[in-house]
Parts: sequence; C-alpha cells; structure tokens
Amino acid sequence: MDVFYIPVDDETQKRQRQKARDLRNSQWWKRRRSQGICHYCNKVFPPKELTMDHLVPVSRGGMSVKSNVVPCCKACNTKKRQLLPLEWDEYMQTLSNK
Ligand SMILES: [Zn+2]
Repeated sequence: MDVFYIPVDDETQKRQRQKARDLRNSQWWKRRRSQGICHYCNKVFPPKELTMDHLVPVSRGGMSVKSNVVPCCKACNTKKRQLLPLEWDEYMQTLSNK
C-alpha cells in the first residue's frame, strides 16, 4: 500500500470541492489568476485559460485552502491527470531544469 495515500471519505471530498468552488469565486483567486502564470510551467496564458489545481488532490486528502491551490494551464492539467504522481514529479523536475 502506498504510504502517502490517505483514504478520504466522500463527504469530506464533497465539502472540499464545494470550498474550491467558493475559493474560485473569491477576489483572491481572481487576482491570482489574473497574473496569467501557470504554477507548473511558468508560461503566461490568458487568465480564462487557467484552471484551479490542487497541489495535493482532494482525493488524496488535499484541502481547498489558499496554500493548496494554484493556477494551472490546460496542458499541465491534462498532463497531471495522465501521469502517476511519481511520473508527475519527474516531469516537474525536467521543467525546473530548463
Ligand atoms: Zn502549465
């Protein structure tokens, strides 16, 4: 069993997703997103193309708090969903070495 995996019940996930929706409507998030920079690849995008991503996914016990959400471009978002957490970490390292 993966030691980093924290089982999260449906109720908690639902609550965190609701909190994420609230956070997405906040001035804080709008300001953050208006900078137009993807947290992962550091490229600049039109703000509406950036989505909110949880650094620690809700399904893994991540919370919808300012310190756990970042603006993320569609390409990174798709990539993150496709890759295993370990592969994603490796991908991040290749980005930061550029
Ligand atoms: Zn990106």
